[in-house]
Amino acid sequence: MALNLKNIRNFCIIAHIDHGKSTLADRLLEITGTIEKRLLKPQYLDQLELERERGITIKMAPVRMIYLDHILNLIDTPGHSDFGYEVSRALMAVEGAVLLVDATQGIQAQTLANFENARKTGLKIIGAVNKIDVALAEQIESAVKELSQLLGIASEEILKVSGKTGEGVSELLKRIIQDVPAPKEQPNKASRALIFDSFYDEHKGVLAFIRVISGQFSLNDDICLIATKTKAKTKEIGYFSPTFKPGQKLLTGEIGYIATGIKNPDLLKIGDTLASYMPNFTDIEPLQGYKEPKPVVFVSFYPEDGGEYDNLKQALSKLRLTDASLVFEPDFSEVLGRGFKGGFLGRLHFEITAERLAREFKITTVQSFPSVAYMVRQSSPQVVRPPVGGSPQVVRLPRDSEFKTITNPKDFPSDASEIKEPITKLEILAPSRYLGAILQLKSIFRFSEITTDNFGEKIIITAKLPLADLILDLDDKLKSVSEGFASLNYEIVGYERTEVVKLEILVANQILPGLTRILPKKDIEREARFMVEKLKKLLPRQQFVQAIQAMVGGRIIARETVAAMKKDVTGYLYGGDRTRKMKLWKKQQRGKQKLKEMASKSQIKVPPSVFKELLKK
Ligand code: GDP
Ligand code: MG
Repeated sequence: MALNLKNIRNFCIIAHIDHGKSTLADRLLEITGTIEKRLLKPQYLDQLELERERGITIKMAPVRMIYLDHILNLIDTPGHSDFGYEVSRALMAVEGAVLLVDATQGIQAQTLANFENARKTGLKIIGAVNKIDVALAEQIESAVKELSQLLGIASEEILKVSGKTGEGVSELLKRIIQDVPAPKEQPNKASRALIFDSFYDEHKGVLAFIRVISGQFSLNDDICLIATKTKAKTKEIGYFSPTFKPGQKLLTGEIGYIATGIKNPDLLKIGDTLASYMPNFTDIEPLQGYKEPKPVVFVSFYPEDGGEYDNLKQALSKLRLTDASLVFEPDFSEVLGRGFKGGFLGRLHFEITAERLAREFKITTVQSFPSVAYMVRQSSPQVVRPPVGGSPQVVRLPRDSEFKTITNPKDFPSDASEIKEPITKLEILAPSRYLGAILQLKSIFRFSEITTDNFGEKIIITAKLPLADLILDLDDKLKSVSEGFASLNYEIVGYERTEVVKLEILVANQILPGLTRILPKKDIEREARFMVEKLKKLLPRQQFVQAIQAMVGGRIIARETVAAMKKDVTGYLYGGDRTRKMKLWKKQQRGKQKLKEMASKSQIKVPPSVFKELLKK
């Protein structure tokens, strides 16, 4: 088929999680004959083992299909808010979006968020209601109505499909060809492409996933990466079928990949412009990139087996190759040894990373409590030295220092004068009957500025909530009070002043850094009690008494003790000889004293299993 710009359609599927994007993608692959039916496993584009198991998409997978003389480039996207970054990248590389809504659920929170993003990117949006094979007629009608209202179009324009049976899917393909604009010819002929993702191959080096914006790229071209001023060669070029299919060139409007041979993955930045090489980099006009993903949740990982540290390091580096948003740096805990502190886009992102470490790399890790980044300043006296020969030295009143960002609770100062924490704007969408139950969550979570709005039969609740609360278990709690019907979406809107303190847990007078947390003042007593009691139940007995304490600002606010193991040294001495008994007891006491000293000299061992149990909610 001769390639003509007019015959290319680039699109993505966007939807709330579980509304059937990946399953619909399967039908597209099948109907277009891209993958033979017998080879088509469900959710084919979810290549990661974990994605298949959990049934969620983490990495988007691009694929090129041919249908009715057109090249259709599809980018499948993940639906969860944590991966909004992946979605935003997909949106920049295409001209159209299929907005999919599960008929049995109707519009949910991330449907709204995805719609908003696609609209802002200027994409042509095609609305489709999915799962019509299982939904009741009135559910289908209600979903169609909601979606047509959202898109501001007539209900007749909303397509009805089933990703399961394939019903309505050819109509959808035809609509994509008809409605999604072909890529535009660019007046600027310099060859430039947007890097929307990457992949690392041991032999071919870094592969850039690109959307060609202007000009063209061929095999053996000299190319460059603008952000890092890196020169390279096109070692291999091709498209996604969805496996890598080598070819000769990629033209304007096409989506494909280039193997660069670059061995250092840090040189390739997602969102960067890949261009034909020019000796003077400033001659190349960069494309508008994406927002850099910003880690907002911080968790330390320690290998359960200390000997696995180097493997953990390697595994994290490897994960970074497929997950550009993952950042990490070395960390150390007196109890758990060497590890890494990772920065994540959200709670799900970090849970998935931990699971991938366990499955793909067989490294079991113990993780600290997740923390957000706090901005903290301390008051410090200021001494101003006089100019030479001036009046005596002036000592000013205490003045606040600059704000410092603290991402590890153990670094949180106890003399903070002002603290700010990240705040999210939350959007909860639920059937109106759950409004009361949802608002009751105020007793656990620090909601503020709550407003409600009707959306058809549903209600949209918007509120502000500290990110620290959001990463607790808001998701689960919300699902349980709404029988699974409420959904939520969030974005971080800034930092606000807050009243939080550092809670430290000590065993045998030693702080266990992985258990240090920053908590709202009002929760501190309760949480302190809870932690020491839980730890008391979990901690194995030793030959000495172990004190468990909770400390805030150097003050112990809760305490428990684990009794020593009873070792009856006198048991075998029947009757009489009291002096011998006393002697043995004395000896035992001395031994205990020694053990106590050992304990205070960092000999204390809290088994990683206890840590794990404690960190569970
Ligand atoms: P995604 O998270 O949007 O990618 O959703 P998936 O494609 O993974 O689908 C979520 C669940 O819905 C899976 O259990 C699918 O089997 C199911 N599903 C998807 N599409 C349909 C459909 O058209 N009909 C029915 N009955 N189930 C569907
Ligand atoms: Mg999916």
